[in-house]
Amino acid sequence: MLRCALSLFLLPLFLFAEKKEVTIVMQFSEGFSPQALQEMQAEADRIVRKAGLRLAFRHRHEAEQESYNELIFFKMSGRCEMDAFPALLDERGPLAFTFTTDGQILPFGEVKCDRLRQSIKTAMVGADFAQGNQLLGRAMGRVLAHELYHMIARTKGHGKGGVARESLSARQLIAEQLDLSDHDCAFVRSGSGKKFL
Ligand SMILES: [Zn+2]
Repeated sequence: MLRCALSLFLLPLFLFAEKKEVTIVMQFSEGFSPQALQEMQAEADRIVRKAGLRLAFRHRHEAEQESYNELIFFKMSGRCEMDAFPALLDERGPLAFTFTTDGQILPFGEVKCDRLRQSIKTAMVGADFAQGNQLLGRAMGRVLAHELYHMIARTKGHGKGGVARESLSARQLIAEQLDLSDHDCAFVRSGSGKKFL
C-alpha cells in the first residue's frame, strides 16, 4: 500500500495534464442497436475521462485500415439490443471479462450482451422500458469501463465502490450515475503510462 502511494506521488505531473487516447476495437457477433452503441461509447468515455483516458471506438472492419498507438479489442457477444420479452430468472455468470495468459492481463475483453440484457430487465420498471436500448447501452458502457480498469491498471483486484467494484448489480448498471472512485482513478492513471504491446 505504501509503495503504491509512493509511486503515485512520484509520477510526473504531465501524466495528469494530458488525456491518453485508447482505441477500442469492437467486434459484434449478433448485431446491435445503434442507440445502445452510442450510449455505451458515451458512458464508457465519460467514466474513464476522470482517470485521464480518452476513448476512440472503431468497428473491426474500420480498424483494419489504420494503425494505432494503443489498442484494446472487445468482442461484443450476443445481441446488443433490447427486446420486449419478459425478464427470465437471472442466470449466473460474468457480464463481461478480460482475457489473461500466464497471469498477465491482456488487452482483450468480452462484453456479454445477452447476459447484460437479462440482468438489467430484472431492475427495469415502468418508464424504463421506453428507453430500453439507452439503458442497455449504459450498462454495456459500465462493464466495458470495468474491464478497462483491469486492463489499464494491470490488476485482477477490485475497488471498494463505483464501477470497479467486484460485482455490479442490475440496479447499479442502469442507475442515473456510476463512476470510478478517486482511488481507482489514481490506480488507472498509474498504469496508463505503460504500453501493452
Ligand atoms: Zn472485475
